[in-house]
Parts: sequence; structure tokens; C-alpha cells
Amino acid sequence: MVKFSVAGQREQAQAFLFDKDGTLISFSHWPQVMRWRARRLAQQLRLSPQQEGALLRLMGVDPATGEPLPGGLLLLPRVEVEAQVSGQLASWGIAEAAEIVARIFREVDEEFPFQEYLRPTPGAGELLLGIKRAGGKVGVVTHDAVGPARTHLAALGWGELVDVVVGADSCRSRKPHPEGVIQACRALGVSPQDAVMVGDTAADLQAGRAAGCRLNLGVLTGAEGKEELAPAADLVIGDLREVRVH
Ligand SMILES: [Mg+2]
Repeated sequence: MVKFSVAGQREQAQAFLFDKDGTLISFSHWPQVMRWRARRLAQQLRLSPQQEGALLRLMGVDPATGEPLPGGLLLLPRVEVEAQVSGQLASWGIAEAAEIVARIFREVDEEFPFQEYLRPTPGAGELLLGIKRAGGKVGVVTHDAVGPARTHLAALGWGELVDVVVGADSCRSRKPHPEGVIQACRALGVSPQDAVMVGDTAADLQAGRAAGCRLNLGVLTGAEGKEELAPAADLVIGDLREVRVH
């Protein structure tokens, strides 16, 4: 049993389940991933610089500065990003756009130097280490595919700290459905009542709640603000430094 405190409350749990992007890993590398995707599409399809810029803007990146646009990055689930980008290409008369986009996004997954760009959210690494040292279990429940998710975790030196990864290709339903959370608990050999769910979106916390997790913890390091998280959360904290393992 891991004993910990958060927001002045003393708690205990056998396992922690984390969403990945915005919860354990910051979004800081995404503009660069988007640039790689747009650049490869432009090279392979012989697009004009204007078209490459339009693809980047569509994905939420300012082509001039490389920074996120005020509206934010296109942080939709992967399949929906692919659909939007291939819709744009199809509107330019490019045939088989969906297949091309899927292939190029996969190539970028494999070749992007994640180790250079990935950054943990504040306190993420220390918390994972604290949980493992206290004898707890750690699961990651993400909408990313399992392979890339493991690559990202390993790039941050967390390969040994995460006991199970449940991803879009190992689970039929997406959060807020509880299937992924339940599947992770089963793999860890713990009951959801002994697990804490941590996420940066209401969908993460709704999934934890529907699965019966003992505590559903929202963090403000990702996509959603306090107004969105609070209705689905037992507690909302700024970042993972506020969880202290005893
Ligand atoms: Mg997230």
C-alpha cells in the first residue's frame, strides 16, 4: 500500500493509473512533431511552401514562429487528426490522401528524436519513482498506440517504472469509457477501488470514476482547465509535485 498526501488529504492506494500526454508528459514537443509531419507531407507530395504552412496552421502551429497558435494545437485523438489532414489534402486533389497521411505519421512516430524533445510535467518522474519505491504499481492508460507510448516513456527513462501500458490498439473503447482503466487494473492485479486515476481531461477522470477508482485526480498541466475538470474530479491540483508519497 502506497501512503501519500495530496491537497492536505492523507490517502493510500496500491496502484496509480496515469494518462500520458498532458499528465506525465508535457505538450512541449508537439509543435515540433507537427512540423516534421507537415515537412514530410510537403516533400513527398511536392506541396508548395504555402500548402505546407496551411497544413501546419491546420494542426495548430504558427508556420512563422513554430509555436502553438492562440487556438492551440490540434490535440484530438490521432485518428481525427489524420482525418482532418487527409481531408485538407483531398481538397487539393491528392488521391489516396488517408493512406499517405497514415504512412507518413507512422514514419514520424518512428524517426522523430523524442529523447531530444520530450519533457516530463513538473514532478512526474519523482512521483513515479516514489510510487515504485513504496511498492506501488503504475499503469498508463492513453489514446496513443502502445508502441509509441512505450517509446516516449523509455525516452524519459521511465521504462522500468511503468508496469503496464493500455493504448488505443489494445483496448476497444476510448475514455471516458472505463474499459482501459479496468484492463490496466486487471493487468496489475489490483482492484479499481485500490487505484488512483490521474488525468488532464474530464474524459480521463470520468473513465476512472466509471471504473470505480478510489480517487480521481485532475492535473492542470494539460489540455483542460479547472472548470472542465472539477465536475469529474475528486480533486484538481496544479501539477504532480502536489502528490507526496510518504
Ligand atoms: Mg491527456
